This record gives sequence, structure tokens and C-alpha cells, in this order.
Amino acid sequence: MTQVGSAERASYAQAIGTGVATPPLRVPLSDLALDDELLAAVQETIASGWWSMGPIVDEFEQAFARFCDVPHAIAVSSGTAALHLALLACGCGPGDEVILPSLNFVAAANTVVHTGAEPVFCDIRSARDLNLDPADLKAAVGPRTRAIVALHYGGFCCDMRAVTAIADYMGLPIIEDAAHAPGASWRGRMCGTIGRVGCFSFFSNKNLPIGEGGMVVTHDSELAERMRLLRSHGMTTLTWDRHRGHAHSYDVVAPGYNYRLDEVRAAVGLVQLGRLLGGNAARAQVVDTYRRLLDGVDGVTVAFGDRTDDASHHLAVVVLPEGVERERVQEFMRQRGIQTSVHYPPIHRFSAYAGSVGARTLPVTEAVADRVLTLPLYPHLEEGQVEAVATALLDALAVYHDI
Ligand SMILES: *Cc1c(COP(=O)(O)O)cnc(C)c1O
Repeated sequence: MTQVGSAERASYAQAIGTGVATPPLRVPLSDLALDDELLAAVQETIASGWWSMGPIVDEFEQAFARFCDVPHAIAVSSGTAALHLALLACGCGPGDEVILPSLNFVAAANTVVHTGAEPVFCDIRSARDLNLDPADLKAAVGPRTRAIVALHYGGFCCDMRAVTAIADYMGLPIIEDAAHAPGASWRGRMCGTIGRVGCFSFFSNKNLPIGEGGMVVTHDSELAERMRLLRSHGMTTLTWDRHRGHAHSYDVVAPGYNYRLDEVRAAVGLVQLGRLLGGNAARAQVVDTYRRLLDGVDGVTVAFGDRTDDASHHLAVVVLPEGVERERVQEFMRQRGIQTSVHYPPIHRFSAYAGSVGARTLPVTEAVADRVLTLPLYPHLEEGQVEAVATALLDALAVYHDI
């Protein structure tokens, strides 16, 4: 079997009359590559007869730890579970505040709330640099601050030099939300390994897709032990250990969770890990074309368009000129078969977080949030498709700008 993406699968489905009522997208936002190696990995694991967390999860953890050059990697059931464990391991709880940028996926804020702590939102730097603004992060620190969740937006490392200086001065742990950043590095270190704990997501539209899954990494053995316990109900032994006769009973030393990963998805993860850097390099090529065709053209800013460091290029985000109705642009592009998205509606604007900004202000987030637009990006996106996306965007702007 050759590589087949979901766009083609949708048209196959339609051709054989089983699928989709709307015309298939020519260019989806993201797309999975399928092949025999992945199918074989799944098949072998199924055939092994052991499906829940066991030796393949172990192998995936070890391979990921080696890849990141970090002593501890703990596989979990999602990126959200990774964030929750990281916050708990850093001691976040009722009465605490955790600082994070509002221009982020909601999982970080939700998990802060689940620990009993309160999220405090900070601003971003600019339309060019959608990562947190260290000056505003510093301004957000108060007597109740317990941790900082630093997102590497789109797989571009945030200013970890400045964030680390603030965190060290204040004695705060940095939890890196590296959901977008597997394989990205900063000054020779992998994103996710610079702070106290790094959290990765392997959701199907991420750079290392396995369906649902995640990983926490840390240099700290004590934190790693705590997260391992909390991942599996706070139990001192695992089903796999008992199955092998290595343990016969267990104690429960903390009321934990079931945040385990399973063998089938770990097997997929091992294959995907081997492809990660090649995939990221292919993404970088696509992004180069977007930069060339769009950055500075007709008022469009390509986010991080000036960055030449080792990013993972999870997202291709542009910031539209002021006054453009983004939804009209999206509809125009959809008519051309191009799927777009928004990363993200800022968290503080959601109903569940109404009033959460308090006396703080987030002027840059407010100015940029209605203008960010995410374009299709995946490793096997072809040059001609990238050009079609760029042309569609510029055509949409010609229609909807200055009318
Ligand atoms: C995807 C994502 C998450 C959550 O990961 P899941 O694996 O979907 O739970 C958290 N933060 C960011 C920035 C993400 O993009």
C-alpha cells in the first residue's frame, strides 16, 4: 500500500458511495500518512495478546527519553493528562495561581482548574511572535503564583531565556506546554526539556500522531516517580508487573488517575517517532513557501516568519490585516476546497472563563485574536497545493479587504 491521505480517502469513500455529503476537501488542514509499516506495527501488537500498558509503552518511553536526551519520559493517555500530571507534581492546588498565555488551547487552563488552582492569563508579544510576553508574565506574578505554563506556540520555542530568568528569580517551576513542539529545539536542547516538566500531545493532528496520547518528560527523578504513580491510580505496582509475577499485591499511596497509554498506540508512536524529524523538515519546506508567497503581501503577517531556529512547524499561522472579516475569508477558501482553522479563540473569552482576566489586560491578544488564521500544513502537502492555498487567501483578501 502506498501513502494515502485522508483527502484521498474521502474521495474514495465518495466514489464508492459510502461517504460524505459535502464535496471532499482538496486541501485539509492536516492529514495523516498511512502505510504498511504502521499497519504492521498495529497488527503485531494486537497479535501479541497484551494490549494495555506493558513492554511497548516502556520501549516508547525509553525511545522518547533518548530522543529528547532526558532521563525520564512517562507516556500518558493525552496531552491534557500530561499537563494535569505536571501541574499536580509541581504541587499546584487550591489557593494557587498558575500563569499561562490566553492564546493557547483550553486544556492548559482546564487542567489548572482541575487541580483547584486558578489560571492567570498573560499577553503575547506581537502578531509576529504569538508566544507569551515575558514582561507581562513578570507583571502577572503575585504572592500566590505557583507555576508558569509556557506554550511553544506552533512549535516555536518561546523566549525561554527570559522565562527561565523570571522563574528562577521568583522560585517558580516552568511547565512547558510542548504539545506543538516534539522535535523542536532551542540552543541545542529539545523543547520540553528546558523547564521542570515538559508536556507533549500525540493527538491525531499533531506532529507525532498516534490517535490519542501524550508524554511528560523531566530531569527530576522525584517528580517522575510522582507522575508515574498518579498516572496509574497511585498504585505501587502495575498490572504488567503482576502478570509477569514480579509483584502480587499493591498499595495505593495517593488518589491517582487512569492516565495510562496502551500498547497499540505506543507501537504507532515508535514508528512515528522515527519519522518525526523528517516530517518536521518537510513541514519547514511548506512554511518556506508560505513565507515567500504571503509574508508582508497585502498586509498579511506570517507568524514567526522571521524565525530560522529549529522549530517543529506544527501550525502555519498568518495574521490578517486589520478590518478583514476572518469568517468571510475562511468561507471563500472553503469554496475553493481549502480548510482553515483558528488557533486559538483566546481562553479568557470562553464562557467558562468569563471574568478570569480580572484587573489584567491583554491588549496584544485582543488585537490579534480575531485576525489569526491557520493554513493547511502537513509533511506531504505538495508545492502546488501550497500555492493554491496562498492564491486563495490573497484572492479572498482582494475581495473582502477595503470594501
Ligand atoms: C493538543 C493540545 C493540548 C492537548 O492535547 P490532547 O492530547 O489533545 O489532550 C494541550 N495544549 C496544546 C497547546 C495543544 O495543542
